[in-house]
Amino acid sequence: MRVHYRTFGCKTNQYDTERMREALEARGIASARADNPGAADLCVVNTCTVTNQADADARRFVRRARRENPGVQIVVAGCSAALQPETYRALAGVVAVVEGHDAGAVAAAVSGPGGRGLVQLGSAKALDRTDWESVGATVLRRRAGATRGWLKIQDGCDRKCAFCATRLARGASRSRGPDEIVEEARALALHHPELVITGVHIGHYGRDLPRPSGLAKLVHRLLLDVPDVRFRLGSIEATEVDDHLLELLGGSGGRLAPHLHMPLQSGADPVLRRMRRWHTRDMYRTRALEIAARVRPIGLGADVIAGFPGETVQDHEDTRLLIEELPFTYLHVFPYSPREGTAAASLPDPVPSSMARERAGELRSLAEAKGAAYARSRGGDPVQVVLEGTRGSALTGDYLRVGVEGSSGSPGQLHDGVLDPTGSHVRIDLTTRLGLN
Ligand code: SF4
Repeated sequence: MRVHYRTFGCKTNQYDTERMREALEARGIASARADNPGAADLCVVNTCTVTNQADADARRFVRRARRENPGVQIVVAGCSAALQPETYRALAGVVAVVEGHDAGAVAAAVSGPGGRGLVQLGSAKALDRTDWESVGATVLRRRAGATRGWLKIQDGCDRKCAFCATRLARGASRSRGPDEIVEEARALALHHPELVITGVHIGHYGRDLPRPSGLAKLVHRLLLDVPDVRFRLGSIEATEVDDHLLELLGGSGGRLAPHLHMPLQSGADPVLRRMRRWHTRDMYRTRALEIAARVRPIGLGADVIAGFPGETVQDHEDTRLLIEELPFTYLHVFPYSPREGTAAASLPDPVPSSMARERAGELRSLAEAKGAAYARSRGGDPVQVVLEGTRGSALTGDYLRVGVEGSSGSPGQLHDGVLDPTGSHVRIDLTTRLGLN
Protein backbone atom coordinates (compact mmCIF):
# COMPACT_ATOMS: atom_id res chain seq x y z
CA MET A 1 0.00 0.00 0.00
CA ARG A 2 1.40 3.41 -0.98
CA VAL A 3 0.88 5.99 1.74
CA HIS A 4 0.99 9.77 1.58
CA TYR A 5 1.52 11.54 4.91
CA ARG A 6 0.48 15.17 5.31
CA THR A 7 1.29 17.03 8.51
CA PHE A 8 -0.04 20.42 9.53
CA GLY A 9 1.36 22.44 12.40
CA CYS A 10 4.22 22.17 14.84
CA LYS A 11 7.24 19.93 15.44
CA THR A 12 5.27 17.88 17.93
CA ASN A 13 2.74 17.07 15.22
CA GLN A 14 5.57 16.21 12.81
CA TYR A 15 6.96 13.85 15.41
CA ASP A 16 3.54 12.25 15.84
CA THR A 17 3.28 11.68 12.09
CA GLU A 18 6.62 9.84 12.15
CA ARG A 19 5.25 7.55 14.82
CA MET A 20 2.17 6.92 12.70
CA ARG A 21 4.45 6.08 9.76
CA GLU A 22 6.49 3.68 11.89
CA ALA A 23 3.34 2.06 13.26
CA LEU A 24 2.04 1.45 9.73
CA GLU A 25 5.38 0.12 8.56
CA ALA A 26 5.74 -2.13 11.60
CA ARG A 27 2.42 -3.77 10.74
CA GLY A 28 3.48 -4.25 7.12
CA ILE A 29 0.73 -1.91 5.93
CA ALA A 30 2.84 0.72 4.24
CA SER A 31 5.05 -0.69 1.51
CA ALA A 32 5.96 2.66 -0.03
CA ARG A 33 5.57 6.37 0.49
CA ALA A 34 3.76 8.48 -2.06
CA ASP A 35 4.87 12.06 -2.68
CA ASN A 36 1.35 13.27 -3.31
CA PRO A 37 -2.20 12.11 -2.66
CA GLY A 38 -2.72 11.42 -6.37
CA ALA A 39 -0.21 8.57 -6.23
CA ALA A 40 -1.40 7.11 -2.92
CA ASP A 41 -3.74 4.32 -1.85
CA LEU A 42 -3.96 5.82 1.62
CA CYS A 43 -3.58 9.36 2.93
CA VAL A 44 -2.80 9.99 6.60
CA VAL A 45 -3.61 13.60 7.47
CA ASN A 46 -2.31 14.82 10.83
CA THR A 47 -4.20 18.06 11.49
CA CYS A 48 -3.49 21.23 13.47
CA THR A 49 -5.97 23.52 15.19
CA VAL A 50 -3.86 26.47 16.27
CA THR A 51 -6.10 28.88 14.29
CA ASN A 52 -9.40 28.63 12.43
CA GLN A 53 -7.28 28.88 9.30
CA ALA A 54 -5.35 25.73 10.28
CA ASP A 55 -8.64 23.81 10.56
CA ALA A 56 -9.74 25.16 7.18
CA ASP A 57 -6.40 24.20 5.56
CA ALA A 58 -6.78 20.59 6.72
CA ARG A 59 -10.34 20.35 5.43
CA ARG A 60 -9.28 21.86 2.11
CA PHE A 61 -6.48 19.33 1.82
CA VAL A 62 -8.83 16.39 2.43
CA ARG A 63 -11.24 17.66 -0.24
CA ARG A 64 -8.41 18.21 -2.72
CA ALA A 65 -6.94 14.73 -2.09
CA ARG A 66 -10.31 13.16 -2.79
CA ARG A 67 -10.82 15.27 -5.92
CA GLU A 68 -7.39 14.37 -7.32
CA ASN A 69 -7.72 10.71 -6.44
CA PRO A 70 -11.31 9.51 -5.92
CA GLY A 71 -10.07 6.05 -4.91
CA VAL A 72 -7.83 7.22 -2.06
CA GLN A 73 -8.71 6.27 1.51
CA ILE A 74 -8.14 9.02 4.02
CA VAL A 75 -7.44 8.72 7.74
CA VAL A 76 -7.61 12.01 9.64
CA ALA A 77 -5.89 12.39 13.00
CA GLY A 78 -4.41 15.16 15.16
CA CYS A 79 -5.50 18.25 17.05
CA SER A 80 -8.24 19.46 14.72
CA ALA A 81 -9.65 15.93 14.48
CA ALA A 82 -9.70 15.78 18.29
CA LEU A 83 -11.89 18.87 18.51
CA GLN A 84 -14.05 18.43 15.43
CA PRO A 85 -14.24 14.70 14.62
CA GLU A 86 -17.71 14.94 13.10
CA THR A 87 -16.61 17.55 10.59
CA TYR A 88 -13.98 15.18 9.23
CA ARG A 89 -16.21 12.11 9.33
CA ALA A 90 -18.60 13.94 7.04
CA LEU A 91 -15.96 14.51 4.34
CA ALA A 92 -15.96 12.16 1.34
CA GLY A 93 -13.09 9.69 1.27
CA VAL A 94 -12.49 9.77 5.03
CA VAL A 95 -12.55 6.18 6.29
CA ALA A 96 -11.48 6.83 9.87
CA VAL A 97 -10.97 9.68 12.29
CA VAL A 98 -8.51 9.32 15.13
CA GLU A 99 -9.34 11.92 17.75
CA GLY A 100 -5.78 12.70 18.70
CA HIS A 101 -2.30 11.44 17.89
CA ASP A 102 -2.28 7.78 18.88
CA ALA A 103 -0.12 6.04 16.25
CA GLY A 104 -1.43 2.61 17.26
CA ALA A 105 -4.99 3.81 16.68
CA VAL A 106 -4.07 5.03 13.21
CA ALA A 107 -2.53 1.63 12.38
CA ALA A 108 -5.57 -0.17 13.85
CA ALA A 109 -7.91 1.98 11.80
CA VAL A 110 -6.10 1.05 8.61
CA SER A 111 -5.63 -2.63 9.32
CA GLY A 112 -9.08 -3.18 10.81
CA PRO A 113 -12.18 -4.23 8.93
CA GLY A 114 -12.55 -0.67 7.60
CA GLY A 115 -15.46 1.67 7.50
CA ARG A 116 -16.42 5.18 8.38
CA GLY A 117 -15.93 6.22 11.96
CA LEU A 118 -14.18 2.99 12.75
CA VAL A 119 -12.03 4.55 15.42
CA GLN A 120 -13.74 6.18 18.36
CA LEU A 121 -11.18 7.05 20.96
CA GLY A 122 -13.25 9.34 23.07
CA SER A 123 -15.43 12.39 23.05
CA ALA A 124 -14.02 15.86 22.63
CA LYS A 125 -17.34 17.64 22.63
CA ALA A 126 -16.66 19.50 25.84
CA LEU A 127 -13.73 21.18 24.07
CA ASP A 128 -11.54 20.29 27.00
CA ARG A 129 -10.16 16.79 26.75
CA THR A 130 -9.27 14.74 29.72
CA ASP A 131 -6.10 12.79 29.40
CA TRP A 132 -6.87 9.45 27.92
CA GLU A 133 -4.35 9.34 25.13
CA SER A 134 -1.00 7.87 26.04
CA VAL A 135 2.03 9.96 25.24
CA GLY A 136 3.47 6.96 23.44
CA ALA A 137 5.46 4.01 24.72
CA THR A 138 7.15 2.75 21.59
CA VAL A 139 10.41 4.17 20.34
CA LEU A 140 10.73 6.23 17.18
CA ARG A 141 13.82 5.25 15.19
CA ARG A 142 14.05 7.85 12.48
CA ARG A 143 12.49 11.02 11.09
CA ALA A 144 12.24 10.01 7.45
CA GLY A 145 13.89 12.28 4.90
CA ALA A 146 15.11 14.87 7.42
CA THR A 147 18.51 15.88 8.75
CA ARG A 148 17.31 16.86 12.20
CA GLY A 149 15.30 14.51 14.38
CA TRP A 150 12.50 15.41 16.78
CA LEU A 151 12.59 13.86 20.25
CA LYS A 152 9.24 14.19 22.01
CA ILE A 153 9.50 14.16 25.78
CA GLN A 154 5.99 15.11 26.84
CA ASP A 155 2.58 16.01 25.50
CA GLY A 156 -0.21 18.31 26.67
CA CYS A 157 -0.19 21.41 28.86
CA ASP A 158 -1.56 22.40 32.28
CA ARG A 159 -1.67 26.16 31.61
CA LYS A 160 -4.77 27.91 30.39
CA CYS A 161 -3.68 30.67 28.05
CA ALA A 162 -6.81 32.35 26.73
CA PHE A 163 -5.88 32.13 23.04
CA CYS A 164 -4.63 28.55 22.95
CA ALA A 165 -6.51 25.70 21.30
CA THR A 166 -3.56 23.31 21.47
CA ARG A 167 -4.15 22.68 25.14
CA LEU A 168 -7.80 21.94 24.43
CA ALA A 169 -6.84 19.41 21.78
CA ARG A 170 -3.96 17.70 23.54
CA GLY A 171 -5.11 17.56 27.14
CA ALA A 172 -3.12 17.68 30.37
CA SER A 173 0.66 17.51 30.55
CA ARG A 174 2.08 14.01 30.71
CA SER A 175 5.72 13.02 30.42
CA ARG A 176 7.53 10.06 28.95
CA GLY A 177 9.86 8.19 31.26
CA PRO A 178 13.55 9.17 31.03
CA ASP A 179 14.74 5.63 30.14
CA GLU A 180 12.43 5.48 27.16
CA ILE A 181 13.52 8.95 26.01
CA VAL A 182 17.20 8.01 26.22
CA GLU A 183 16.55 4.80 24.29
CA GLU A 184 14.75 6.77 21.59
CA ALA A 185 17.49 9.41 21.47
CA ARG A 186 20.10 6.68 20.94
CA ALA A 187 18.10 5.22 18.07
CA LEU A 188 17.53 8.62 16.45
CA ALA A 189 21.20 9.59 16.88
CA LEU A 190 22.16 6.81 14.46
CA HIS A 191 20.48 8.84 11.69
CA HIS A 192 20.43 12.46 12.83
CA PRO A 193 23.29 14.74 13.93
CA GLU A 194 20.88 16.99 15.82
CA LEU A 195 17.86 16.13 17.96
CA VAL A 196 15.31 18.77 18.92
CA ILE A 197 13.67 18.17 22.29
CA THR A 198 10.01 18.80 21.65
CA GLY A 199 6.66 18.71 23.40
CA VAL A 200 3.71 20.99 23.99
CA HIS A 201 5.07 22.40 27.26
CA ILE A 202 8.55 20.98 27.85
CA GLY A 203 9.20 23.24 30.84
CA HIS A 204 6.75 21.08 32.81
CA TYR A 205 8.59 17.89 31.90
CA GLY A 206 8.67 15.29 34.66
CA ARG A 207 6.25 16.87 37.13
CA ASP A 208 3.70 14.09 36.60
CA LEU A 209 6.13 11.16 36.72
CA PRO A 210 5.93 8.69 39.62
CA ARG A 211 9.38 9.95 40.63
CA PRO A 212 9.08 13.66 39.76
CA SER A 213 11.92 14.99 37.69
CA GLY A 214 12.71 18.09 35.64
CA LEU A 215 13.82 19.15 32.19
CA ALA A 216 17.39 20.12 33.14
CA LYS A 217 17.97 16.73 34.76
CA LEU A 218 16.71 14.95 31.66
CA VAL A 219 18.84 17.08 29.33
CA HIS A 220 21.90 16.47 31.51
CA ARG A 221 21.34 12.73 31.26
CA LEU A 222 20.85 12.90 27.48
CA LEU A 223 24.14 14.76 27.10
CA LEU A 224 25.94 12.07 29.10
CA ASP A 225 24.21 8.98 27.68
CA VAL A 226 23.86 9.92 24.01
CA PRO A 227 27.20 11.18 22.65
CA ASP A 228 28.00 12.48 19.16
CA VAL A 229 24.76 14.33 18.66
CA ARG A 230 23.74 17.93 19.25
CA PHE A 231 20.58 18.56 21.24
CA ARG A 232 18.40 21.63 20.91
CA LEU A 233 15.56 22.71 23.16
CA GLY A 234 12.19 23.29 21.54
CA SER A 235 10.00 26.16 22.64
CA ILE A 236 10.26 26.82 26.39
CA GLU A 237 8.81 29.48 28.65
CA ALA A 238 11.28 32.10 29.96
CA THR A 239 10.13 31.49 33.52
CA GLU A 240 10.97 27.78 33.19
CA VAL A 241 14.60 28.19 32.12
CA ASP A 242 16.31 27.40 35.42
CA ASP A 243 19.96 27.86 36.39
CA HIS A 244 20.85 24.22 35.75
CA LEU A 245 19.57 24.55 32.19
CA LEU A 246 21.57 27.76 31.75
CA GLU A 247 24.72 25.95 32.91
CA LEU A 248 24.13 23.27 30.30
CA LEU A 249 23.44 25.85 27.58
CA GLY A 250 26.59 27.78 28.38
CA GLY A 251 28.89 24.97 29.42
CA SER A 252 28.28 21.97 27.18
CA GLY A 253 30.62 23.07 24.38
CA GLY A 254 27.76 23.23 21.91
CA ARG A 255 26.32 19.80 22.76
CA LEU A 256 23.20 21.67 23.90
CA ALA A 257 22.71 24.26 21.16
CA PRO A 258 22.90 27.84 22.52
CA HIS A 259 19.41 28.69 21.40
CA LEU A 260 16.17 29.38 23.24
CA HIS A 261 12.74 30.02 21.80
CA MET A 262 10.76 31.64 24.63
CA PRO A 263 7.16 32.67 23.86
CA LEU A 264 6.61 36.32 24.83
CA GLN A 265 3.16 36.91 23.29
CA SER A 266 3.00 40.52 24.46
CA GLY A 267 5.21 43.10 26.14
CA ALA A 268 2.30 44.83 27.89
CA ASP A 269 1.05 43.69 31.30
CA PRO A 270 -2.67 44.44 30.69
CA VAL A 271 -2.56 42.24 27.58
CA LEU A 272 -0.61 39.48 29.32
CA ARG A 273 -3.28 39.44 32.04
CA ARG A 274 -6.09 39.17 29.50
CA MET A 275 -4.16 36.40 27.79
CA ARG A 276 -4.06 34.61 31.17
CA ARG A 277 -0.30 34.39 30.97
CA TRP A 278 1.32 33.83 34.35
CA HIS A 279 4.33 36.09 33.83
CA THR A 280 4.67 39.86 33.69
CA ARG A 281 6.62 41.99 31.21
CA ASP A 282 9.31 42.51 33.81
CA MET A 283 9.65 38.82 34.71
CA TYR A 284 10.27 38.00 31.06
CA ARG A 285 12.61 40.96 30.55
CA THR A 286 14.72 40.16 33.60
CA ARG A 287 15.13 36.50 32.70
CA ALA A 288 15.92 37.20 29.03
CA LEU A 289 18.64 39.70 29.98
CA GLU A 290 20.11 37.27 32.52
CA ILE A 291 20.18 34.49 29.94
CA ALA A 292 21.84 36.70 27.32
CA ALA A 293 24.47 37.78 29.84
CA ARG A 294 25.30 34.20 30.85
CA VAL A 295 25.21 32.41 27.49
CA ARG A 296 27.11 34.10 24.66
CA PRO A 297 26.43 33.96 21.80
CA ILE A 298 22.84 32.79 22.00
CA GLY A 299 20.05 32.61 19.45
CA LEU A 300 16.97 34.05 21.12
CA GLY A 301 13.55 33.79 19.55
CA ALA A 302 9.97 34.34 20.66
CA ASP A 303 6.36 34.14 19.56
CA VAL A 304 4.43 37.40 19.66
CA ILE A 305 0.72 37.99 19.06
CA ALA A 306 -0.16 41.43 17.68
CA GLY A 307 -3.64 42.91 18.05
CA PHE A 308 -4.96 40.73 20.89
CA PRO A 309 -8.44 41.94 22.06
CA GLY A 310 -8.13 45.14 24.05
CA GLU A 311 -4.55 45.87 22.93
CA THR A 312 -4.18 49.67 22.96
CA VAL A 313 -1.74 51.84 21.07
CA GLN A 314 0.28 52.10 24.29
CA ASP A 315 0.26 48.30 24.79
CA HIS A 316 1.59 47.85 21.27
CA GLU A 317 4.25 50.48 21.88
CA ASP A 318 5.29 48.72 25.12
CA THR A 319 5.68 45.48 23.17
CA ARG A 320 7.70 47.23 20.47
CA LEU A 321 10.00 48.83 23.04
CA LEU A 322 10.60 45.53 24.81
CA ILE A 323 11.44 43.82 21.53
CA GLU A 324 13.80 46.65 20.69
CA GLU A 325 15.54 46.31 24.04
CA LEU A 326 15.93 42.52 24.27
CA PRO A 327 18.58 40.66 22.25
CA PHE A 328 16.16 38.73 20.05
CA THR A 329 17.73 37.20 16.97
CA TYR A 330 14.39 36.33 15.34
CA LEU A 331 10.67 36.45 16.13
CA HIS A 332 7.54 34.65 15.00
CA VAL A 333 4.88 37.36 14.95
CA PHE A 334 1.22 36.49 14.36
CA PRO A 335 -1.67 38.93 13.98
CA TYR A 336 -4.35 37.73 16.40
CA SER A 337 -7.29 35.89 14.91
CA PRO A 338 -10.04 34.48 17.11
CA ARG A 339 -10.04 30.71 17.54
CA GLU A 340 -13.46 29.18 18.24
CA GLY A 341 -13.81 27.51 21.63
CA THR A 342 -11.03 29.51 23.31
CA ALA A 343 -11.61 32.00 26.12
CA ALA A 344 -10.09 34.78 24.01
CA ALA A 345 -12.71 34.37 21.29
CA SER A 346 -15.35 35.97 23.53
CA LEU A 347 -13.25 38.86 24.84
CA PRO A 348 -14.54 42.41 24.22
CA ASP A 349 -12.72 45.22 22.40
CA PRO A 350 -11.44 43.36 19.36
CA VAL A 351 -8.69 45.05 17.42
CA PRO A 352 -9.62 45.42 13.72
CA SER A 353 -7.78 42.77 11.72
CA SER A 354 -6.18 45.36 9.43
CA MET A 355 -4.69 47.05 12.48
CA ALA A 356 -3.51 43.71 13.92
CA ARG A 357 -1.78 42.97 10.59
CA GLU A 358 -0.20 46.43 10.53
CA ARG A 359 1.14 46.03 14.07
CA ALA A 360 2.44 42.56 13.25
CA GLY A 361 4.20 43.94 10.17
CA GLU A 362 5.91 46.61 12.25
CA LEU A 363 7.16 44.06 14.78
CA ARG A 364 8.33 41.72 12.00
CA SER A 365 10.37 44.48 10.35
CA LEU A 366 11.97 45.28 13.68
CA ALA A 367 12.78 41.60 14.26
CA GLU A 368 14.27 41.22 10.77
CA ALA A 369 16.58 44.20 11.35
CA LYS A 370 17.69 42.78 14.70
CA GLY A 371 18.27 39.35 13.15
CA ALA A 372 20.40 40.78 10.34
CA ALA A 373 22.47 42.80 12.82
CA TYR A 374 23.01 39.69 14.95
CA ALA A 375 24.09 37.64 11.92
CA ARG A 376 26.59 40.37 10.94
CA SER A 377 27.97 40.38 14.47
CA ARG A 378 28.72 36.67 14.05
CA GLY A 379 30.59 37.19 10.74
CA GLY A 380 33.99 35.46 10.71
CA ASP A 381 33.17 33.26 13.72
CA PRO A 382 33.76 29.51 13.82
CA VAL A 383 30.48 27.58 14.02
CA GLN A 384 29.15 24.04 14.20
CA VAL A 385 26.50 23.31 11.59
CA VAL A 386 24.15 20.62 10.44
CA LEU A 387 23.38 20.57 6.72
CA GLU A 388 19.74 20.60 5.81
CA GLY A 389 19.42 18.03 3.04
CA THR A 390 17.58 19.38 0.05
CA ARG A 391 17.40 22.96 1.31
CA GLY A 392 21.07 23.61 0.51
CA SER A 393 21.37 25.42 3.81
CA ALA A 394 23.02 24.83 7.16
CA LEU A 395 21.91 25.54 10.70
CA THR A 396 24.24 26.85 13.41
CA GLY A 397 23.86 26.11 17.11
CA ASP A 398 22.50 29.61 17.68
CA TYR A 399 19.86 29.08 15.00
CA LEU A 400 21.28 31.02 12.09
CA ARG A 401 20.09 29.43 8.87
CA VAL A 402 22.89 30.13 6.41
CA GLY A 403 23.87 29.28 2.84
CA VAL A 404 26.76 26.89 2.20
CA GLU A 405 29.78 28.24 0.29
CA GLY A 406 31.98 25.95 -1.77
CA SER A 407 31.85 22.23 -1.18
CA SER A 408 29.34 20.75 1.16
CA GLY A 409 29.63 17.86 3.60
CA SER A 410 27.40 15.03 4.66
CA PRO A 411 23.94 15.78 6.04
CA GLY A 412 24.41 12.91 8.45
CA GLN A 413 26.94 14.63 10.67
CA LEU A 414 27.93 17.86 12.38
CA HIS A 415 30.52 19.98 10.63
CA ASP A 416 32.96 22.68 11.62
CA GLY A 417 32.75 25.81 9.54
CA VAL A 418 33.42 29.54 9.47
CA LEU A 419 30.82 32.22 8.80
CA ASP A 420 31.49 34.79 6.06
CA PRO A 421 31.68 38.50 7.08
CA THR A 422 27.92 39.00 6.64
CA GLY A 423 27.06 35.95 8.76
CA SER A 424 24.83 34.68 5.97
CA HIS A 425 27.01 31.86 4.59
CA VAL A 426 29.24 29.20 6.04
CA ARG A 427 32.39 27.66 4.58
CA ILE A 428 32.62 24.10 5.78
CA ASP A 429 35.92 22.60 6.82
CA LEU A 430 35.83 19.11 5.38
CA THR A 431 39.06 18.10 7.06
CA THR A 432 37.48 17.86 10.49
CA ARG A 433 34.58 15.94 11.87
CA LEU A 434 33.35 17.37 15.09
CA GLY A 435 34.22 15.28 18.07
CA LEU A 436 31.79 16.64 20.58
CA ASN A 437 32.36 15.60 24.11
S1 SF4 B 1 1.52 27.51 27.83
FE1 SF4 B 1 -0.30 28.49 27.04
S2 SF4 B 1 0.12 28.75 24.83
FE2 SF4 B 1 1.56 27.20 25.58
S3 SF4 B 1 0.53 25.23 25.13
FE3 SF4 B 1 0.06 25.84 27.29
S4 SF4 B 1 -1.92 26.90 27.17
FE4 SF4 B 1 -1.06 26.82 25.06
